[in-house]
Amino acid sequence: MTRRTAGGANPLTILLRGAVLRCPRCGRRTLSSGWIKPPDPCPDCGLSFDRDNDATVGWIIVNLGITEILFVLFGLTALVVTWPHVPWTGLTIAAVVVNATLPFLLVPFSRTLWAAIEVLMDRMDGPARPA
Ligand SMILES: [Zn+2]
Repeated sequence: MTRRTAGGANPLTILLRGAVLRCPRCGRRTLSSGWIKPPDPCPDCGLSFDRDNDATVGWIIVNLGITEILFVLFGLTALVVTWPHVPWTGLTIAAVVVNATLPFLLVPFSRTLWAAIEVLMDRMDGPARPA
């Protein structure tokens, strides 16, 4: 299989495609999959979203990173809005709920965003090598 480039798209475009569940390489809008199952390879460019264990570790790291960034933003916002009468019990319950549900909600976005990061890393390796 030959490697294909992202058609000269800039890195931000590639990352945004991944963040909105589009193929980061070609921009195809519809990628068939379930919520947990990885998308099938892109029918237009052949990009695989489940290549190996490294890809699995990668999207999990992206998933947890986004979860924790959103959690910190949520917590800081709640603190600022409710200060000085912070509802600690409610905030603790909300923290548990957020950290238990967000990783599941972010699974498909994490997979396509990690694929975008891999497309960018392939680009940094230089010109495409023969298969
Ligand atoms: Zn594609």
